[in-house]
Amino acid sequence: MSDVNPQYIELRSHTCFSFSDGAISAEALAKHARQLGYTHLGITDTADLGGLAKFAVEAMSPLKDPTCPDAERHDAEYCKTCQYPVRPIVGAELNVDGYPMAFLARNEEGYCNLAALVTLARVGQWEEWDKKIQGKRRGRPKVRWEQVATHANGLHAMTGPASGELASFVRGGRTTDAVQLLNRWRDAFEPGALSIEVQLHYTGGHEAALASELIELANSEGLPWVATQDPRYVDERGRLVHDMLTALRYDLTIDVAAERGLLHPNGEWRLLSPREMAARWRGREEGLRESLRVAERCTGFTLDWMRPPLPDFHKAKVGAGMSDVDDNHALRRWTEEGMRERWGEPTPRQWQQIEHELELIANLKFPGFFLVMADAIRFARSKGILCQGRGSAANSAVAFCLGITAVDPVKHGLLFERFLSARRRKSRAAGHRRRFRARAARRSARLHVRHVPPRARGDHRGDTVFPRADRGPGRDARARLPGRDGARDLEARAR
Ligand SMILES: [Zn+2]
Repeated sequence: MSDVNPQYIELRSHTCFSFSDGAISAEALAKHARQLGYTHLGITDTADLGGLAKFAVEAMSPLKDPTCPDAERHDAEYCKTCQYPVRPIVGAELNVDGYPMAFLARNEEGYCNLAALVTLARVGQWEEWDKKIQGKRRGRPKVRWEQVATHANGLHAMTGPASGELASFVRGGRTTDAVQLLNRWRDAFEPGALSIEVQLHYTGGHEAALASELIELANSEGLPWVATQDPRYVDERGRLVHDMLTALRYDLTIDVAAERGLLHPNGEWRLLSPREMAARWRGREEGLRESLRVAERCTGFTLDWMRPPLPDFHKAKVGAGMSDVDDNHALRRWTEEGMRERWGEPTPRQWQQIEHELELIANLKFPGFFLVMADAIRFARSKGILCQGRGSAANSAVAFCLGITAVDPVKHGLLFERFLSARRRKSRAAGHRRRFRARAARRSARLHVRHVPPRARGDHRGDTVFPRADRGPGRDARARLPGRDGARDLEARAR
């Protein structure tokens, strides 16, 4: 891949989503990386993937920055300073059996495995649960090696910083243990998906010695080693914040934390530019080249990787006699049924709106989402639970026909594009397209069901029959939903 920065890619950045161990927002990190000339940047927050979407949206869709030194030329041309996209390399640092180790997703399967490991780390180990301890103090997320080994597909592993297990063995002169450990890791990951991590923060001779020994081990074992800086912030102010966070984590004042050696000894845990890293590792360039190789293998991330898997509607479709019909057709059929319940014989304008929305929903691959919502609403109504879709979803005629919302958007001339829009997708660059997808996802997330407490029941005004109330036996008591005025009243009363 030719567009990787030819000097170095930082694979191990942390954002403030490394709680109490990162002192920069994901957005600011993206901006800073762009200014430093990074083409790619790896994010490995500690047992957390929360910063990835924020980073990716900002990094891949850079805006024209008014503070950019070339701002006056922004109207005329594409600005390489502030509009250059930085592609995210997504990963996480995990505590594996007590030692930090980093993993990057090489593909979508790897991302799913990473997400599973983060979940496992946060859920904790039942056998370690001790009410006396956990009741007072929250534990730290961690996983066991066996869990990592079963989720290794699609992941690239890095062996961790100086406090990592491999570095600890090497520092203690336990070469045999180090080699055994490497063999265990090598067996678990795909060929070429393991790099020995080497860092230089200029903390003294012992660090330089450790780096040399790790490189020697890599060479003797025939494994690649990669230079990383493992940054937590981008400048001196960030370092101060990081020191404060560290002191807070140990429940100490900064002075005491410094006395006890808990703070980083210098400000070198900042994001260095590719040029600075090249200078730092002059004469040992293979660690820089390895960062480029890993970046190339882990560069395919899109926000689509983060789409939550939707439930399988196979059963529901079988029940409705549509077992061999895909989600788009099922959505169309249920919408058309609902349409007749709502409007009787639809007018050309109503038809046109429905067709327009269905096409867009299909293009954006959102039918499953509408089916989930309709199913949730149907279930709630069958149990006599009042509920109502809200937000900009009220602009969708399909949502109205499925009974998700109560406002007729055709009658009121509401704009569906406020809810979902494909216009940007067609007209803008790929980066902007992803930005839009993130927005669309956020918007659709707003289409959630609001539960109305039972005491508000029986207060339907202008009732409208729920369109696709289950038609099976025993469903005579069709669920009904309040009309457009009634919905607001009900919500107001329920509060
Ligand atoms: Zn600019």
